[in-house]
Amino acid sequence: MTRHASDPLAAQMTAWRHHLHAIPETAFEEFKTSDYVAGLLAGFGLEVERGIGGTGVVGTLHRGGSRTIGLRAELDALDIEEVRDLPYRSVHPGKMHACGHDGHMAMLLGAARHLSASDIFRGTVRFIFQPAEENEGGGLRMIEDGLFDRLPVDAVYGLHNWPGIDVGRLAVRSGPIMAASDMFEITVTGQGTHAGMPHMGSDAIVAASALVAALQTIPSRRIQPAEPNVVSVTQIHGGNTWNGIPADVVLRGTVRSFDPGVRDGIEAAMTRISAGISQTYGVAVDVEYDRRYPATVNHPEAARSVAKLAACVFGPGNVVEDALPSMGAEDFSYMLQKRPGCFVWLGAGPASDGHVLHNERYDFNDGLLPLGARFWTRLVETELPRGRP
Ligand SMILES: [Zn+2]
Ligand SMILES: [Zn+2]
Repeated sequence: MTRHASDPLAAQMTAWRHHLHAIPETAFEEFKTSDYVAGLLAGFGLEVERGIGGTGVVGTLHRGGSRTIGLRAELDALDIEEVRDLPYRSVHPGKMHACGHDGHMAMLLGAARHLSASDIFRGTVRFIFQPAEENEGGGLRMIEDGLFDRLPVDAVYGLHNWPGIDVGRLAVRSGPIMAASDMFEITVTGQGTHAGMPHMGSDAIVAASALVAALQTIPSRRIQPAEPNVVSVTQIHGGNTWNGIPADVVLRGTVRSFDPGVRDGIEAAMTRISAGISQTYGVAVDVEYDRRYPATVNHPEAARSVAKLAACVFGPGNVVEDALPSMGAEDFSYMLQKRPGCFVWLGAGPASDGHVLHNERYDFNDGLLPLGARFWTRLVETELPRGRP
């Protein structure tokens, strides 16, 4: 496999990517997408299992041996309206591949196609295409549906294209690489009153404002400063007129952390501070705290061996081995809780002019397809023993 644009596999991956880009589907509704992926995998001669965790698809390539590795890509897109008039733009209004999952699928399909014609390794490779990565935890659904019991793997790997890292570079790190992500909703209920007579009620807006400020003392005053964490209030809803104080205000937001103890500490502090605000301002404060994706934690040995392999594929100067972790979240975390492995970022170029994930102008860089497919191929050839079956 070469990196040259005239490479027939590169041209094929580009065509697959453009087809997938045009038919974006969201959480557990990836019907056309999973049909397309399953059809290609079957065409390469792989065993194909469908309907794991909803729309999940797994293609298995057997080449004797005893070791099995899993490589994961995502089927889902986002509820974003695409604004660019690309020749392969989304034909599904309000849906868009703005995270590059179209590219992840195409490069994993390219690797499957290449490896299906190769007999230089011994072992089994499972190409895992999961639904609903963005919000709904499709990775967890696949595991709960028996993914690793029905189709066992000894190790599992994931890759994401990453704006902000130059094309031709790869970043990895041992330990946490992406954060745990939680959501909260806090309802502050006071007593509505005339705005000119605030003493006749309990002001939910003043109490909620104090609460927003007090929540910022969790990262700055409650958590060990060397432990990364974020508490962000992202919504405030309350009131609908100039001269009346509303009875209630709703705050929503997200919490990010790496360490499970820090996660516990933030939730406990949020509950305690809310109770204090309730007492101080004479309002009721109800906290709903919803734990979502856990932190994505790379296994040290896997991270080390992937970094070594990436140095061969991309050149020693093009591998970042101690990348700063991201406070974004990723549901590949559930797979890494079950099996050793690691998650890597493939450079996608400068993160400027809206070239960032989840932007309504984002379009996966087709130049990455041969790089990603080559990385997957070499990973299989390195992690599985060499030799003919
Ligand atoms: Zn995303
Ligand atoms: Zn993504």
